[in-house]
Amino acid sequence: MKKALYPGSFDPITNGHVDILERASRIFDMVEVAVLENPSKNPLFSVEERVAMIREIFRGKPNIKVGSFRGLLVEYARKTGADVIIRGLRAISDFEYEFQMALMNFKLDPSVEIIFMMPRVEYSFLSSKLVKEVYSLGGSLPDLVPEAVDRELKKKFHDSGAG
Ligand code: ADP
Repeated sequence: MKKALYPGSFDPITNGHVDILERASRIFDMVEVAVLENPSKNPLFSVEERVAMIREIFRGKPNIKVGSFRGLLVEYARKTGADVIIRGLRAISDFEYEFQMALMNFKLDPSVEIIFMMPRVEYSFLSSKLVKEVYSLGGSLPDLVPEAVDRELKKKFHDSGAG
């Protein structure tokens, strides 16, 4: 039984993340989305809101589950019995940061295995940050985020003050 962990902020989850998760769930027996509790990053959605959206999206997919963590990722991986950590690698710009993080995680736990998955081309420019920016300016991106996320982003940005 091979278990993978897919850690990140997921503030909010996008179709780029969903694509990676669906593909990973065909390779591994179990994939856990590990939502980072990161109050210092000033997230738009609370951990509970992020977890609830992800749970709604993958309802009916028994080998994709959702959890949250704080502190060291390698410790969470050890605690949950994960064999592999998955990260997505979009443009060259992701590479340096991801490379540093992977090397540091190896340093912290030499037994950890980290693999990188490329997004499909239509999602390779997509980031949670840009998605939030578009919705905050009144736009919407129904092709790039799951329905639950589109709905929650509209609640946060478009419905405010509408009564
Ligand atoms: P973090 O804040 O840890 O970078 P994110 O929530 O932004 O977390 O992303 C989690 C993981 O998913 C990271 O490995 C990131 O590179 C990857 N990722 C983000 N957006 C996409 C996308 N559009 N396609 C594929 N992978 C992505």
